[in-house]
Amino acid sequence: MVKVNEHYLELPGNYLFSVVADRVRTFQEEHPEAKIIRLGIGDVTLPLVPAVIEALHQAVSEMGNEETFRGYAPDRGYAFLRETIAECDYRRRGCSISPEEIFISDGAKCDCGNIQEIFSIRNRIAVCDPVYPVYVDSNAMAGRTGQYDPETGKWSDVIYMPCTEGTGFLPELPGKIPDLIYLCFPNNPTGAAMPKERLQEWVDYAIQNGSVILFDAAYEAYIREEGIPHSIYECRGAKTCAIEMRSFSKTAGFTGLRLGYTVVPEELKIQGVKAADLWARRHGTKYNGAPYIVQRAGEAVYSSPGREQVKKQIRYYMDNASLIRQGLSEAGYEVFGGVNAPYIWLKAPRGMNGTAFFEQLLQEAHVVGTPGSGFGPSGELFLRLTAFGNREKTREAVERIRNL
Ligand code: PLP
Repeated sequence: MVKVNEHYLELPGNYLFSVVADRVRTFQEEHPEAKIIRLGIGDVTLPLVPAVIEALHQAVSEMGNEETFRGYAPDRGYAFLRETIAECDYRRRGCSISPEEIFISDGAKCDCGNIQEIFSIRNRIAVCDPVYPVYVDSNAMAGRTGQYDPETGKWSDVIYMPCTEGTGFLPELPGKIPDLIYLCFPNNPTGAAMPKERLQEWVDYAIQNGSVILFDAAYEAYIREEGIPHSIYECRGAKTCAIEMRSFSKTAGFTGLRLGYTVVPEELKIQGVKAADLWARRHGTKYNGAPYIVQRAGEAVYSSPGREQVKKQIRYYMDNASLIRQGLSEAGYEVFGGVNAPYIWLKAPRGMNGTAFFEQLLQEAHVVGTPGSGFGPSGELFLRLTAFGNREKTREAVERIRNL
């Protein structure tokens, strides 16, 4: 008789997020007059920039012409895009990444979830707490995380690295050595960024202990300060121990278009086997390539008008972040993040936890955030606000919170 993958049964439901969505829906039904402002969801709101739209139109026309029609894309991605990425995202920053080390995909979420497949089930993972849930859940589905304890919200075989006010929201090198280390900086949900010398410590630690770092750089484009690496390959030796995931979602508003990529360096070997070969095998077997029109749109992000246009959008979102940061800290709130990332990590005031504060914001200010406990136990006292909203609504939300 057919059997279920029992690891799926051990997964806790994405309880908090569905509770939040239900709660907001019920509140709106009970208070139809309430003008709710949603700063909870990490999705962009500005439309695609003109350079991208133009490239899409052109690529669509090519697809309607027999001479220029394209069928299956190469499963590693078109050379025009891989070459552009290697040049613009890496060589110009002093990192020697070749197009052959770049694997185009339909987004970082899939890559972050799938990358664990090339590693043995016996590897032990380490994650930050709080954390983007995909890293842990995809390992739990594979059966790599042990037993889940609903009391603590933790898996028995996962090394959790608390990122708290006390650690400046950065993880500390774990005493118990992990095999796979997930790092995401600039961070979702805390908005923290990791200085280069701190990231170098992680690279040195991984090399020394034979670990691999899975570096999620989905928010790299939001870095505004000097000294914050845009890529882990800015660190010495990282090509021997790190895989990097990137996304066009928050960089260029591709959340609905879907494009991302993963870098697996040639030098990275697992028990003598090239990780790039394993990932190429996986990619070639389970993936048939991002659409041509989307890859052309991705290429347009790097054109000179494209670069200017997406920079302007990022400035818009980061001006929202500054507005939230400034407005709330002036009102006496403890506010973190929002300097090199589009997320603001707000400490719940007056001894409340993040969930109680979420409820107060909803009921009294009609503003929706995300309770920090949804990202892990160390998020308990926090609420995440995003800078991806419309300017006027963001300003209005800040005003309402200030007047609580
Ligand atoms: N990684 C992090 C840390 C994210 O926050 C997100 C999206 O919110 C993703 C990856 C997913 O990116 P994509 O839209 O490319 O799948």
